[in-house]
Amino acid sequence: MSYKPQRIDTSPGSMVQKPIFVRPEILLHSNIPKPLHSVNPRTIKGKDWWNEKRKKAYAANNFCCWACGVHKSKDKFHNHLEAHEYYDIDYEKGEMRLKEIVALCHTCHNYIHSGRLSMILLKGEVSEDDFEYIMAYGRDIIDKNKLTLPLLPEKIAEWSQWHLILDGEKHFSPFKSYHEWVEHYQTQEEE
Ligand SMILES: [Zn+2]
Ligand SMILES: [Zn+2]
Repeated sequence: MSYKPQRIDTSPGSMVQKPIFVRPEILLHSNIPKPLHSVNPRTIKGKDWWNEKRKKAYAANNFCCWACGVHKSKDKFHNHLEAHEYYDIDYEKGEMRLKEIVALCHTCHNYIHSGRLSMILLKGEVSEDDFEYIMAYGRDIIDKNKLTLPLLPEKIAEWSQWHLILDGEKHFSPFKSYHEWVEHYQTQEEE
């Protein structure tokens, strides 16, 4: 019998750790209002800022998804977490404020961005099976935790009113209208 030494991976997060907390209510995050697509702190504040914030978020919960608790190595799609900008959104005022950066598995992250997911489904960039899997996964967690989706107010801000507040400054939409938004996203190649 021969003895084979095993290489032990001691890099952070290499062992399957348990989450410190689970916050399923993160899945109730609304889709980003269309006027503020592409207006986000990671673009405004730049790569260094974003890298620091997202790495902190990954480590903060032992490399587990903040919404469902799955360890990054156990997600169906890939074995790293994704960072998400979590906002407070005031629909009547048309105001969005960054609350925190959270770390999510690919499945939960795509569930939150279901508007975008539906768009790429139409373009054939995600399979129907994956789409269904993601939507059912999110709904299931919401049901199990007896959470209810917040209702949108009847009166929603005009396109031109929408802004992101970051460090006390207002950032408005780069698109003057829904029409401009459609043109931009129809002609754009994938990010
Ligand atoms: Zn998750
Ligand atoms: Zn996100």
